[in-house]
Amino acid sequence: MATIAFLGLGNMGGPMARNLVAAGHQVHGFDPSEGARQAASDGGVEIAESAAAACAAAEVVFTMLPAGSHVREAYLGEGGILASTPPGALFIDSSTIDVASARAVHEASEAAGFFMVDAPVSGGVAGAEAGALTMMVGGSDASFAKAQPFLDVVGGKVVHAGQPGNGQVAKVCNNMMLGISMLAVCESFSLGEKLGLDPKTLFEISSASSGSCWAMLNHHPLPGIVPTAAANRDYKPGFAAAMMHKDLKLAQEAAALADCATPIGAEAAQLYSLFVAAGHGHLDYSAIVRMIQGKAAE
Ligand code: NAD
Repeated sequence: MATIAFLGLGNMGGPMARNLVAAGHQVHGFDPSEGARQAASDGGVEIAESAAAACAAAEVVFTMLPAGSHVREAYLGEGGILASTPPGALFIDSSTIDVASARAVHEASEAAGFFMVDAPVSGGVAGAEAGALTMMVGGSDASFAKAQPFLDVVGGKVVHAGQPGNGQVAKVCNNMMLGISMLAVCESFSLGEKLGLDPKTLFEISSASSGSCWAMLNHHPLPGIVPTAAANRDYKPGFAAAMMHKDLKLAQEAAALADCATPIGAEAAQLYSLFVAAGHGHLDYSAIVRMIQGKAAE
């Protein structure tokens, strides 16, 4: 069993850290939030006084932080992970962040003699609690081999996506598809309804036709069609519109980095930007159907 530092014990990191404890690892956690620390402590995580103290004896460091700036600071800042962790340790960053930050932190970590993977996740809080996340992993073969036993604890499906940063590339590409397809479902069902077609009938037809897609089948934006969808619980997330907005912006940053045209992804980012600016970022991302229909979201 390994000694693990876990930095970022929020909605996702908290349950991931608890699952590592349940698998028999010794987990030293740190988070500036008192509530996050308390919940993790209740789950058997030993709370450290600082990130540096959590890392002092770590063989593996997990991070699950909000954004690229937090990750750069946590790894590269004064008294950060690189400065505090014993040589040769493995770093696993599961945060969803920009590709450039992921690659910069990889480079610095490997230059200092550490192993690193970026391993962003899909599956939300329910997936984190169940240890069933899909993990998209970027890094060398050697780093991936070292990380796999730990990723298997927090994840249900673990895929090595290739070079450093490729986990983040997979994450933004997947979520750009999801955001675009949700908007396509919103527009198509709004159009059908305006032309007098019952959404339930369109669903019956489309789910057996070429327009079918995961967003429509699982996260249908209208109530009364897919029982488990957020639309049936006043759009309580689920996957918050603010998170979708974040991921679509990351996709646009990645597109600029690669000089790749993504006009529909850009439009999707703009639409979610408007929706979030109107104060609806806390709602499920499927609630954007209200904006597409020209109705105010509750
Ligand atoms: P969260 O805000 O609940 O948790 C982030 C935690 O990091 C907070 O508790 C914060 O206090 C802590 N933190 C900030 N700086 C820190 C530092 N320097 N050291 C230690 N802790 C620090 O967010 P979350 O929902 O857990 O998301 C975490 C990451 O996972 C994000 O990058 C998000 O995009 C990604 N993600 C979230 C979901 C989801 O459904 N919530 C799904 C997939 C991916």
